[in-house]
Amino acid sequence: MTTFADLERLVADRLLRPDATGFAEATFAQFARTGDPPAAVVRVRSTTEVAAAVRAARSAGLPVAVRSGGHSYALHSAGPGALVIDVRALDSVAIDADRLVGRAGGGVTAGAYSRAAGKHGLATGFGDIGTVGVGGVALGGGIGFLSRRDGLTVDNIQSAEIVLADGSVLTVDAREHPDLFWALRGGGGNFGVVTGLTFRLHRTAVVTGGMLAFAPSPARLVAAVDAVLDAPDGLSAMVNLLVAPPLPFLPPELHGRPVMLVLACWSGAPQDAEDALAPLRAIGQPLVEALDTHSYPDLLRGPPTPPQPAYPVMRTGFTGRLDERFGEAALRSLATAGMFAAFNLRPLGGAIGRTPPEATAFAHRDRDVMVTVSALVQDSTAVPTAQDWVDEASRAVGLSGAGYVNFMSGATPEDVAAAYPGVLDRLREVKAAYDPGNVFRFNHNVTPPGGPAG
Ligand SMILES: Cc1cc2nc3c(=O)[nH]c(=O)nc-3n(C[C@H](O)[C@H](O)[C@H](O)COP(=O)(O)OP(=O)(O)OC[C@H]3O[C@@H](n4cnc5c(N)ncnc54)[C@H](O)[C@@H]3O)c2cc1C
Repeated sequence: MTTFADLERLVADRLLRPDATGFAEATFAQFARTGDPPAAVVRVRSTTEVAAAVRAARSAGLPVAVRSGGHSYALHSAGPGALVIDVRALDSVAIDADRLVGRAGGGVTAGAYSRAAGKHGLATGFGDIGTVGVGGVALGGGIGFLSRRDGLTVDNIQSAEIVLADGSVLTVDAREHPDLFWALRGGGGNFGVVTGLTFRLHRTAVVTGGMLAFAPSPARLVAAVDAVLDAPDGLSAMVNLLVAPPLPFLPPELHGRPVMLVLACWSGAPQDAEDALAPLRAIGQPLVEALDTHSYPDLLRGPPTPPQPAYPVMRTGFTGRLDERFGEAALRSLATAGMFAAFNLRPLGGAIGRTPPEATAFAHRDRDVMVTVSALVQDSTAVPTAQDWVDEASRAVGLSGAGYVNFMSGATPEDVAAAYPGVLDRLREVKAAYDPGNVFRFNHNVTPPGGPAG
């Protein structure tokens, strides 16, 4: 048995309780959080320390939360009352350019991995921004700029090293513990602490991408989404409807006006970029056009992180192709928001849809578009108003049922169940086999059958 005192001896001043110097910095994350602080944070540096931390938490009767990139919209890595295992120092990256395999420690960011791979003209797709942790984005699914070409991030995981609830360490892949390997790829942090992942790499020297801004209209929204769905797989994009914030990459005359921002990435042959992007350009006269040739890691830079974290409220869902009623309802909703609010649409298809549905625990491969409705507020007292707006706007555009776990906040057990259509029972069986006591419950929690609720 490893006690808390043993853990403290092992990691010394890297075990931080709420009164410790550095605790506030250790718990600072992308989003503002309310509620109780964690019982303690341990900044681990090795798989051995992760195992000791899990054992110590169990002997102290504490649940475990995992913090990687700290970008959870659901604020799971805040871990109120839990031992937060902060894996950010597990930040090694190794690129095997001959075998097209990349290995990332469980605390690496998508940006750090992508920069290392990019030096070899290679990439594994994550999302649209480099600051997210590979741990969170990969285990939940991973929908991003290379997804229609290479599949979701989960489709590119080849193996994982994981510390289980009893502190034992497994390496899992398609042959070893295939049940757990399946569940990890979409089931999030439910099964243990992932200390390393290996990914398939794809040749990606340069991409053509960036932003197009348009005056929004229902017809133009449909046209933008269709242009991506009908494009070759090398085109992935996201289409955002929002009231333009006062950000430097948007001209001042757009600030405060509804705008449609298309963030696109062509990762096919560079000489085909013009043709591939032409249908998107043709949907209207762009107000801003900032498409260029980039190294892939450059495209993950994203806007700067605001110094003052906000409170996120999100709902997601999946739809078939849009019709204009969707855009009419979305634009009407935006006009009533009165806060930073957005609709984010991600046309799927391509390699996402071709991967067999039973291959991973990501259960939405037959859908055309993922939709996220979100609001960000600076003050916790505004969260209920933001939630009301997000709920109403989601209803207005017809979102219901299944969501994408990486873009959910404040999810109920019913929301979590709905996020795993057709795979929930199998996930629960794996949970029962590997974490029957639900030690790992700070996640979109899959509870073991008959086990304790999260
Ligand atoms: C600005 C922004 C842009 C985003 N863009 C995209 C996008 O384009 N595509 C997309 O798919 N998602 C995107 N996301 C969502 C993102 O994938 C999730 O928020 C994800 O959970 C973030 O992971 P993290 O490691 O940074 O967060 P954390 O808060 O550190 O972790 C979130 C949860 O993931 C689990 N977890 C993380 N690491 C591990 C690990 N090593 N072992 C076990 N469990 C672990 C834990 O349950 C943890 O609580 C975006 C989020 C933000 C804030």
